[in-house]
Amino acid sequence: MNKTDKILIIGAGLCGSLLALRLAQRGYKVELYESRPDLRKVDISSGRSINLALSDRGFKALRLCGVEEKAREICIPMFGRLMHDKAGNTFASNYSGRENEYINSISRGDLNALLLNEAEKHKNVNIYFNKKCKNVDLENNVAYFKDYKTKEEFSIKATVIFGADGAGSSLRKSYYLEKKFLFSYAQNYLNHGYKELEIPADKTGKHQISNQHLHIWPRGDFMLIALPNLDGSFTVTLFLSYNEGEFNFENLTTEEKITQFFKQEFPDALALIPDIKEEFLNNPTGALGTVKCSPWSYQNKTVLLGDAAHAIVPFYGQGMNASFEDVTVFDEILNQLENSLEVYSWKSVFKAYEKARKKDTDAIADLAIDNFYEMRDHVANPIFKEKRKIEMDLEKTFPTQYFSKYSLVTFNENIGYNTAMKKGRAQDKALLNLIADNEVHTHLNMTKNELKVILEKVKTETDNILKEDKIAGL
Ligand code: FAD
Repeated sequence: MNKTDKILIIGAGLCGSLLALRLAQRGYKVELYESRPDLRKVDISSGRSINLALSDRGFKALRLCGVEEKAREICIPMFGRLMHDKAGNTFASNYSGRENEYINSISRGDLNALLLNEAEKHKNVNIYFNKKCKNVDLENNVAYFKDYKTKEEFSIKATVIFGADGAGSSLRKSYYLEKKFLFSYAQNYLNHGYKELEIPADKTGKHQISNQHLHIWPRGDFMLIALPNLDGSFTVTLFLSYNEGEFNFENLTTEEKITQFFKQEFPDALALIPDIKEEFLNNPTGALGTVKCSPWSYQNKTVLLGDAAHAIVPFYGQGMNASFEDVTVFDEILNQLENSLEVYSWKSVFKAYEKARKKDTDAIADLAIDNFYEMRDHVANPIFKEKRKIEMDLEKTFPTQYFSKYSLVTFNENIGYNTAMKKGRAQDKALLNLIADNEVHTHLNMTKNELKVILEKVKTETDNILKEDKIAGL
């Protein structure tokens, strides 16, 4: 393993371009191949989520690569959720009781362009567009490509190949098809898909609804969300079943039915989306799935990162953040092995990386499914609202002692997802039990002493649950 090794990265999306930047900063020679055209020159946003929620794990990786501040310049902070009921009433729920904890809306295209620009500044990085990897010959470490423009087919032999080519990864497909080793692979789709719509800016170019919130219209079996864009618009996403319920993607095929659905379920949103019918009928419906697989690497030759290794549903707003965190963890492993006295190889790097990472990416995959139910349903539930109110008060009053599950996952970048999940779930259970058993009560202006009593009860109950979970092997 040395700096002259030829490194091939397949996929110049969010993970691949950040990885290319980091490896180049470490002095490696990187060849980055992307199937799409250069998004800095051609608009290719259609069909993909236009904006994303970026939070602390993502920022940690961007900081490592020296691009945090540039990313922050194109972010819109969202301090909490703003829920919309059918009558048009709204209520806000902050993400945290600590003022410095919020998530950020960022354009996928602008962030990807920033990372490509930064990677390209290094002369040891070459980026090629319109070149789709078809498959990888694992034994010989050769990737086969097709150029979309010239139709030419060609191959590249590399010392190591990184598959950062997203949920439909060609490298992962080669693992599966070549059957060179015991490759475990599971892909689970939700019965819900998603469709993006737009709330345009007002006549003066301003946002028509609060741009400090992530808007949610929770309706039980389905929901609508909206994240602000810098140009004053919002990207709206409808999450809806393909074929179940009164309204679903398969039966919303006429303008009348689409209007009826939005009038009945989201009247306030309908009033803000002037092109609803055209957008609904013309914009694609995307599938939502979870990919879990292992091992991620093959010998000292190939490894999967980002969605290629662990695609998740988008309900925790963590897919990109987790993919960026992959780069942080990979970099830490390189540091550890470089600083150790042992002889190491790409194989040992890949193994150590997966060992350190897999339990955390499995955890965020499960948390993302949990949040699917929480967002579309529980956020409007009275017990859930009471629990959030207590958590906000605890975080505000004891900012160094209490962290909700959401805070542990989203704002505590130095705690792994798996630890955050275990502690967060136990804490949720503890708090919900205490509320259900009438052991804690809230009122508008809780005193510090009242909150202290609740904090201690939650801590004790959480510790008990964690102990029980450990005995049960969870
Ligand atoms: P991708 O972004 O998919 O990039 C893969 C790249 O590889 C692409 O550029 C692709 O063109 C290229 N490629 C694919 N196949 C090939 C091939 N054969 N040859 C060459 N190149 C190839 N995450 C968050 O953190 N916050 C959010 O709010 C959030 N919201 C989301 C909303 C929706 C609706 C969806 C679907 C996802 C959301 N995500 C979110 C998840 C996030 O989009 C992904 O986790 C993230 O894009 C993963 O980055 P990646 O680079 O691994 O994969």
